[in-house]
Amino acid sequence: MAKVCAVFGGSRGIGRAVARLLAQKGYRLAIVARNLEMAKAAAGDLGDGHLAFSCDVAKEHDVQSTFEEMEKHLGRVNFLVNAAGVNRDSLLVRTKTEDMISQLHTNLLGSMLTCKAAVKTMIQQQQGSIVNIGSVVGLKGNSGQSVYSASKAGLVGFSRALAKEVARKKIRVNVVAPGFVHTDMTKDLKEEHLKKNIPLQRFGEPIEVAHAVVFLLESPYITGHVLVVDGGLQLVM
Ligand code: NDP
Repeated sequence: MAKVCAVFGGSRGIGRAVARLLAQKGYRLAIVARNLEMAKAAAGDLGDGHLAFSCDVAKEHDVQSTFEEMEKHLGRVNFLVNAAGVNRDSLLVRTKTEDMISQLHTNLLGSMLTCKAAVKTMIQQQQGSIVNIGSVVGLKGNSGQSVYSASKAGLVGFSRALAKEVARKKIRVNVVAPGFVHTDMTKDLKEEHLKKNIPLQRFGEPIEVAHAVVFLLESPYITGHVLVVDGGLQLVM
């Protein structure tokens, strides 16, 4: 059976690195992001047979129609990676409600919606593998990131519960929880200062996270697991 993987947030950063690795391994990729041009550029880089889709994961209708289009053009999705995410870092007392909502909707509700759509088709296939991208701050908490941390902590609870729910259908659900990784999301951070607190003394690269994602996607006897990829950061948080 063809390996078809939808990578939400596959146009940039960690998702794009995951897509590259999967393309090298013979998967057919659906690259999904809001910005269609960026998604097309990422899909085009992968070679022939991969497609780009525009979708806001926070919108149920968008997610449903995207899965219908993916199935029509690529075949049934049997692998899913949720790498779409946003952060609006600020102390809670300064955080606008709209910024709380956008983080929860994209990072948590969005993954719930894509998992729901994917699980429906995976149940019919009696197989499937999902990796959701959490964060080490969802496990440890971080000042200035209370809402973002909550969205990522919620993603862990959701993923573990879903793993129990769908295991008998031969569908696995796992989480990769990165620390600081060089992407657009972290480009404005004070790296020189922050990296001193990381045991391995550096930010990670998207490809280093991608290897962990692909490992979990393809590990037939691992489900409900949270794999931390953070240069040791959680040891000192
Ligand atoms: P980037 O900002 O580099 O990329 C984010 C991706 O998500 C883009 O493809 C973006 O495309 C897409 N995206 C954002 N919002 C939506 C939306 N509403 N609907 C669909 N797609 C969306 O982020 P990273 O690669 O750094 O992050 C990937 C994941 O890893 C995120 O979940 C992030 O929270 C998590 N993470 C990142 C860390 C880091 O240090 N970089 C650390 C820990 C976790 P577009 O804008 O076109 O929609």
